[in-house]
Amino acid sequence: MAISHIHIGTNQGDLRANLRAAIDKLEAQGTVLDKSHIYETEAWGKQDQPNFYNMAVTYETKLDPHALLKLVNDIEDELGRVRKEKWSERIIDLDIITYEDKVISDDTLTIPHRHMTERNFVLVPMIEIAGEWMHPTLEKTIDDIYVECLDRCEVIFIEKGI
Ligand code: ADP
Ligand code: MG
Repeated sequence: MAISHIHIGTNQGDLRANLRAAIDKLEAQGTVLDKSHIYETEAWGKQDQPNFYNMAVTYETKLDPHALLKLVNDIEDELGRVRKEKWSERIIDLDIITYEDKVISDDTLTIPHRHMTERNFVLVPMIEIAGEWMHPTLEKTIDDIYVECLDRCEVIFIEKGI
């Protein structure tokens, strides 16, 4: 069994239901050990679109990293994600932020997630469930990475999670 942290985002349709559906599908293939609260953020990179709901989960899985990537891509497809231009609106986005302390960089998968250090909407929910997790190449915790992060996008606490 391995521990991974997965970030989930959505900005189309019933946002809370989309998060719930993604978590249910993860639960069917492994164990969601912990969940952050839900946070609302403005769209990053491309702003003419609805705000996002974001959260992060701690996931126990028997899948190896590439099989886990296939699982999250399958969940995105099953929930009706249509792949359009980069950073466009999406019904669901599941990103693998960490997998144990593995470092992977190939054509399909980068772990730890390539953009985690520069995005508050990833770091803020991650602090709740993995603040002490140590980035294997930066040798900094999530808490420390957040303190140093220059992103000024607002990440608004919504309420106790789902
Ligand atoms: P983004 O999440 O950056 O907005 P997408 O969700 O469209 O973009 O992802 C595009 C591709 O990113 C996926 O097809 C996947 O192969 C690749 N990818 C690389 N590393 C990861 C990761 N850690 N988690 C999820 N997808 C990843
Ligand atoms: Mg993604």
